[in-house]
Amino acid sequence: MITGKTNVVGIIGNPVEHSLSPLMHNAAFKHLNLDYIYVPFLVSNNSLEDAIKGAKSLNIKGLNVTIPHKTEVIKYLDSMDKSAEFIGAVNTVKFEDDQAIGFNTDGIGAVKAIEEVSSVKDKKVVMLGAGGAARAVAFQILIDGAGSLVIANRTPENAFNLQNELKDKLNSDVKTTDFGEKLENELKDADILINTTPIGMYPNIDQESLVKAELMHSNLVVNDLVYNPLKTCLLKECEKANAQAVSGIKMLIYQGIESFKIWTGVYPPFEIFENAIKISQNP
Ligand code: NAP
Repeated sequence: MITGKTNVVGIIGNPVEHSLSPLMHNAAFKHLNLDYIYVPFLVSNNSLEDAIKGAKSLNIKGLNVTIPHKTEVIKYLDSMDKSAEFIGAVNTVKFEDDQAIGFNTDGIGAVKAIEEVSSVKDKKVVMLGAGGAARAVAFQILIDGAGSLVIANRTPENAFNLQNELKDKLNSDVKTTDFGEKLENELKDADILINTTPIGMYPNIDQESLVKAELMHSNLVVNDLVYNPLKTCLLKECEKANAQAVSGIKMLIYQGIESFKIWTGVYPPFEIFENAIKISQNP
């Protein structure tokens, strides 16, 4: 029951109606008997500043931030934690003592998902894409001890820019490549392959995977950030190669779990988040 004491958290984005986050968070609040409610807020591009100021005035406790506001929101925050500062994007805001503090749990979510099947420490990682999600994943996986990273991207300049930033800020071993023969060679001794491009995402489910089964070995861990559909074109290739698949839904769940912890101080059970998503997909 919502009362005068109920704590409000939510998500701001444009669009937000597709978001699975309200389902996950509200299920966990209920399960843990926490007096919180999670609400989706549609915020247009020119209303972001008002939205953050308004959230502070309304005593909202926290927000998730999604497309297109993850970078822009930084201007309106009072401080950021180290990971968010490195990544240069925020997906979680905590309001405390009239301060808005930014965090980024996307990268942590991806690493936790991968670490269900393999540690990232000292591993060679090949990453497809160099956009927003790629930045979060790349910084976090290197912060968490990956040995080296190869970035393959359609627009080489975007890969170079990310490579330079990672080298400057973390002094890490980072290379770039195209999608051709060089990528094939890099995959031969790679430990982890991560797709951060939207290839295969609904409604484009028949798109061709950037990496085919022939280029995967059976010890490769293959993580697709795309989670709709659950079995993407890349994960189908992974299955053919008998490699180890990590679905994008895991990252979605873990990034949410980390945001929940930031706001409430408590880790929600993974299964509660997972079941909330399953129920939404098979009502
Ligand atoms: P973004 O910032 O727009 O970046 C997209 C990246 O994909 C860019 O590197 C782009 O290359 C590349 N790309 C796009 N279309 C391509 C194509 N047809 N062929 C080859 N490369 C292509 O997007 P984002 O925010 O990083 O999101 C990327 C994907 O991750 C989306 O599907 C999103 O749903 C998913 N995601 C999942 C989670 C999760 O929790 N599982 C979290 C965040 C994002 P260029 O540089 O050449 O443009």
